[in-house]
Amino acid sequence: MSKGFGESDMAQVQSDRATSESVRRLIDENQRQAEHATTRRAEGTYGLCEDCGQTISAERLRFLPDATRCVSCQARLEQR
Ligand SMILES: [Zn+2]
Repeated sequence: MSKGFGESDMAQVQSDRATSESVRRLIDENQRQAEHATTRRAEGTYGLCEDCGQTISAERLRFLPDATRCVSCQARLEQR
């Protein structure tokens, strides 16, 4: 192994790669969700939970304009 590129450097490179990979996935996910919300707007179902059909609170939509589920359905989804 060449000088100045020890095992800890390798670990750093690998963790950097893992970080950018998960960031990229997160961006992809956000992008998909934004597009999904746009579709829901076009369908006229924007603001309604796609799971239970209840109205998503205006406050939630103010903070998360791309939300397509109510708080409880989203929480249930993220628990899985
Ligand atoms: Zn719901």
